[in-house]
Amino acid sequence: MINLILLGPPGAGKGTQAQKLGEHFGIAKLSTGDMLRAAVAAGTEVGLQAKSIMEEGGLVSDDIMIAMIQERIQAADCAMGFILDGFPRTIAQAKALDDMLAKQALKIDRVIEIQVDETALVDRISARYSCGKCNAGYNSKFKPTRVEGVCDECGATNFVHRDDDKAETVIARLQAYHKQTAPLLPYYREKSALVAVDGMQDIDVVTRQIDSLLLVKD
Ligand code: AMP
Repeated sequence: MINLILLGPPGAGKGTQAQKLGEHFGIAKLSTGDMLRAAVAAGTEVGLQAKSIMEEGGLVSDDIMIAMIQERIQAADCAMGFILDGFPRTIAQAKALDDMLAKQALKIDRVIEIQVDETALVDRISARYSCGKCNAGYNSKFKPTRVEGVCDECGATNFVHRDDDKAETVIARLQAYHKQTAPLLPYYREKSALVAVDGMQDIDVVTRQIDSLLLVKD
């Protein structure tokens, strides 16, 4: 059982690494951004509340996010643990997560900070896209499909760009990161849970470094 958090600004590679580490360790990948996008697409109550906030690059309310994760971590696929991508994003979310885990005699084992050069982020984010059918993520510069125009995972040929990946929204998302999410770094450092990795390296090199960091015991 291992419970992990990936921290870092938008475009750091959290989703990509969460996917790989989730498969590697056999634990559930929980992406609150994916959950919210699904809620928006389905037109649920939460989706309706989140849509305009996401389009502006702001943060959805702590109450909504905490309820969403609370329900999700109780699902059967989290029995071996989970890797969180995009949650917590505020101190209030981090404290609520600690409380809900403590009630089940669980805790966060490691928080992995993916460090990136922020001047590269807007470029990185504008090059990313995903499969319109299975949601697999790609990047025309760093991780294109093996066959042009065909999803490696499911063979679909329709791809989508996220609405909030346009430059002006990315800038707002970065501001939200610095103001509301970056304070989580000292929060987890104090709990001795924080480790950092250089996210400017190749995707596989970053994964290997995270793997080796996770092997180090307290
Ligand atoms: P992401 O896919 O992680 O970049 O998330 C996309 C958008 O969803 C963010 O810009 C926020 O508007 C919203 N969001 C995702 N996770 C959270 C969270 N934990 N707290 C608040 N808003 C979130």
